[in-house]
Amino acid sequence: MSLQTVPKDLRNLRACLLCSLVKTIEQYEFDGCDNCEDYLHMKGNRDVVYDCTSANFDGMIAMISPEDSWVAKWQRIERFAKGVYAVSVTGRLPPGVVRDLRSRGIEYRQRDTSQKS
Ligand SMILES: [Zn+2]
Repeated sequence: MSLQTVPKDLRNLRACLLCSLVKTIEQYEFDGCDNCEDYLHMKGNRDVVYDCTSANFDGMIAMISPEDSWVAKWQRIERFAKGVYAVSVTGRLPPGVVRDLRSRGIEYRQRDTSQKS
């Protein structure tokens, strides 16, 4: 079972608003998002990191083998990179980013599971 709890008292952790990946703000600024960098272009741009990630998220899942994880299927992230993912992320991508995603054929679904949309 690729499920473990991760302490949440680590500072500067943020969750990607598009895929829920959790990393530190420095990791996002340095590497961008492992899944979404092609779309969000966070690398080297802290402003974009702030816009496209949220510090307000709940629950963390460590995904070790996305291919056969029920958690991954539940979170619809089976094709994503291995890593730590948030269960629920509060916040929204900026409208300009959502438009850009739509123009590439990606329908942005808010990842906040704590409220019905
Ligand atoms: Zn992402």
